[in-house]
Amino acid sequence: MAKQIQAIRGMNDLLPSQTPAWHKLEQAIRELTASYGYSEIRTPIVESTDLFKRSIGEVTDIVEKEMYTFEDRNGDSLTLRPEGTASTVRAGNQHGLLYNQEQRLWYVGPMFRHERPQKGRYRQFHQFGVEVYGLKGPDIDAEVLIMSARLWKLLGISEHVTLELNTLGDSEERGRYREALTAYLEQHKAMLDEDSQRRMYSNPLRVLDSKSQSTQALLENAPALVDYFGEETQQHFQRLRELLDQAGIQYVVNPRLVRGLDYYNRTVFEWVTSSLGAQGTVLAGGRYDGLVEQLGGKATPAVGFASGLERLVLLLTELGKVDDSPAIADVYVTAMGDNAVSAAMKVAENLRDQLPHLRVMSHCGGGNFKKQMKRADKSGAQVAIIIGDDEVSANTAVVKPLRSQQQQQSIAQTELVDAIRTQIGSV
Ligand code: ATP
Ligand code: MG
Repeated sequence: MAKQIQAIRGMNDLLPSQTPAWHKLEQAIRELTASYGYSEIRTPIVESTDLFKRSIGEVTDIVEKEMYTFEDRNGDSLTLRPEGTASTVRAGNQHGLLYNQEQRLWYVGPMFRHERPQKGRYRQFHQFGVEVYGLKGPDIDAEVLIMSARLWKLLGISEHVTLELNTLGDSEERGRYREALTAYLEQHKAMLDEDSQRRMYSNPLRVLDSKSQSTQALLENAPALVDYFGEETQQHFQRLRELLDQAGIQYVVNPRLVRGLDYYNRTVFEWVTSSLGAQGTVLAGGRYDGLVEQLGGKATPAVGFASGLERLVLLLTELGKVDDSPAIADVYVTAMGDNAVSAAMKVAENLRDQLPHLRVMSHCGGGNFKKQMKRADKSGAQVAIIIGDDEVSANTAVVKPLRSQQQQQSIAQTELVDAIRTQIGSV
């Protein structure tokens, strides 16, 4: 036998038993974004490498070691998108969507990062994200957080996620803090882990994010960002907190929350769960007021978040929130004998014409009564329609309920639509 080719490590097939959970999630996302008046944007999966270097930042995990970057046949450096914000800003600038306008956008799609695959961490994964442009106040920060809370409600997982919130101040405040932090870290350089020693000059704030215990211990006495905030930053954060309190959204302020991408300022947040082990962040985001200008547009305030769908699917599955073998048909049409096949197909087509929401599955491949009824049962259908030679000559059909004790009955084919409508309430 020929050697089988396997999927790329860390890139998942989604099998029929898994797609119901994805549909549930995608359906909730569509409902959610529609109910807040957000519009969908779709951008290419491949972009210029420079786009991500300039936005995410050179000294970040993503750009340093996670991007799928390659030269195309022209020698241009291209990258499979590792996240959605940079592309959205690029598209917004390119098509003039951002200047002097408000935009509330959302996207969903695959992202690519060369990480070590493990539960909740893959090399191709999917993100749902929202990005809002042209609004600088804390009210819109509150809206995207209230919106994310509603997503948990739609999915039935509100009790399993908590919100962590922080503010990073503006770039000037962070600049002054950076100096103080770097000075402190320099004094204790020998005690820092290797990554932090390197990042201490290039991106000292990322040191706050270090997973090393000794580094974290050292940080206990480091200067605190909050001491560098001016009036405006404080007011923005205060007002956001009030709005969240008034909306009944619970959160914890986590001063160590800095996020792994360079473009954030002021508000940052993560929704985390303790139900998934180490990969507990299911949604993360914040404000990024400098990015539009940094990528060549006019200065435009912005806020957004991205949520990892694989982690949400895992959560939904582990909490038993999805039916993994849902019915795939409402009605199963059987055909007993060669003569019945075309009549049965006609009956099925007519049902699809008249009842567009009805899911009708036609038996193919012949076989005896027992075999066909077994397939009907497996489809999850409520009702089987049986058509044999007698029914063909009399223009009738047998309607057989599959999930109740009701008797089967023979009716004229012209009565079928009404009979099915009565049997299956939702169509
Ligand atoms: P982490 O700290 O888990 O690496 P991150 O800070 O790199 O996350 P973001 O870039 O903010 O993550 O992406 C937002 C969300 O996308 C994450 O919270 C997570 O749910 C999801 N995500 C990120 N990377 C992966 C991945 N490799 N596989 C699956 N989901 C991911
Ligand atoms: Mg990461």
